[in-house]
Amino acid sequence: MDFALSQDIVRMKETVRQFVASEVEPLAMKIEEEDGVPQALLDKSKALGLFGLSIPEEYGGMGVNMVGKCALYEELGKTINGYTTILGAHSGIGSVGLVELSNEEQKMRYLPKMANGEWIGAFALTEPQAGSNAANLRTTAVKKGDRYILNGQKIYITNAPIAHVFTVMAVTDAALGAKGITSFIVERDFPGFQVGSVEKKMGLHGSHTAQLYFEDVEVPEENVLGTVGAGYVNALKILANGRAGLAARCLGSCQYLLDKSIAYAMEREQFGKAIFEQQIIQHYLAEMALEIETLRSMTYRVAWMSDEGHSVIKEAAMLKLYGSEVYNRIADKAVQIHGGVGYIADYPIERFYRDARITRIYEGTSEIQKNIIAAQLKKEYAARA
Ligand SMILES: Cc1cc2nc3c(=O)[nH]c(=O)nc-3n(C[C@H](O)[C@H](O)[C@H](O)COP(=O)(O)OP(=O)(O)OC[C@H]3O[C@@H](n4cnc5c(N)ncnc54)[C@H](O)[C@@H]3O)c2cc1C
Repeated sequence: MDFALSQDIVRMKETVRQFVASEVEPLAMKIEEEDGVPQALLDKSKALGLFGLSIPEEYGGMGVNMVGKCALYEELGKTINGYTTILGAHSGIGSVGLVELSNEEQKMRYLPKMANGEWIGAFALTEPQAGSNAANLRTTAVKKGDRYILNGQKIYITNAPIAHVFTVMAVTDAALGAKGITSFIVERDFPGFQVGSVEKKMGLHGSHTAQLYFEDVEVPEENVLGTVGAGYVNALKILANGRAGLAARCLGSCQYLLDKSIAYAMEREQFGKAIFEQQIIQHYLAEMALEIETLRSMTYRVAWMSDEGHSVIKEAAMLKLYGSEVYNRIADKAVQIHGGVGYIADYPIERFYRDARITRIYEGTSEIQKNIIAAQLKKEYAARA
């Protein structure tokens, strides 16, 4: 295994670090309070190429491999999670389907605009009755001549208010269950397609999540992504591919919280000495550092396996589960080490604490990751028997 970063990625990581310090962090309070990322920051992020990470160079992107992407996401994880969710949802679940499953014509039409951020991507699977049970979709796509007519509703779709291109899963043959689901590329301007109002959330301020409504939306046949009936498998592939990137963002957030906690423990004095001198605080910090190193090893191993073309179904589920649970544990310890300061909204720790919570829910809950791992263990057992 070789996780060594290329010189290009090392340079890009440093550029991202400086960009975060000078352009993103100063906007933290504004983004949090207004629940919106200024367009100027999105434009600067586009100019830096942050919307084109996953897209191959021949379509105008940066063509960064998964190890490189994780290195950059680790850096981005150290800042406002709402802002990085916009980038992560676009470069991850919002564009992976178009990169991995589309035909040449579709690539030419969508990827160059997605690479420079002119068109932002979103992924639309979840419906009111189809959350963890993602095969239980009711949005229908009925073939009529050379078009499909889509009707239905999606909920909780990240980037929906700003996205132009949606990877949408809909039922083409209800009798076939999961095998009767197909993926479509839906453009925001297709008549009959509407985005609902922005949901109010516990955290991730700046990242917007909304419902989608399809009322007789005509989608040209050439906008089928992959093959008819492969939509459920496509969705699982897209979600699995996104897991290393999400874990890398969790990793960056954890590192940020550890660094802040060490600094605070060194400077905060109680009982005549720095709280760092209390063994229990040292143990909290040691436990945080241990979990971060474990998460880092897992993240880059899964990224390397993906780049090498290995199947990572079990490993990516383990990584998503571990990364999100560790992030929540570390955010909790960081609040504890900071005491009252950790609970006050003038400081960033409580924001990370709230932002951490969603990572155990979206892109497959922790319970569903355990189900995936167990299903793989059963398969491996059967193969050995
Ligand atoms: C902020 C946010 C952003 C999101 N972004 C997107 C997006 O961009 N695109 C998209 O398609 N979706 C998105 N989602 C949806 C998200 O993926 C789902 O919320 C998630 O998969 C869980 O589905 P659910 O909310 O319906 O919970 P449910 O499926 O109702 O689960 C409720 C509880 O039951 C547990 N449970 C359910 N089934 C089982 C089982 N078989 N075994 C064990 N436990 C089980 C769950 O783990 C959970 O604890 C987003 C959600 C949020 C909140």
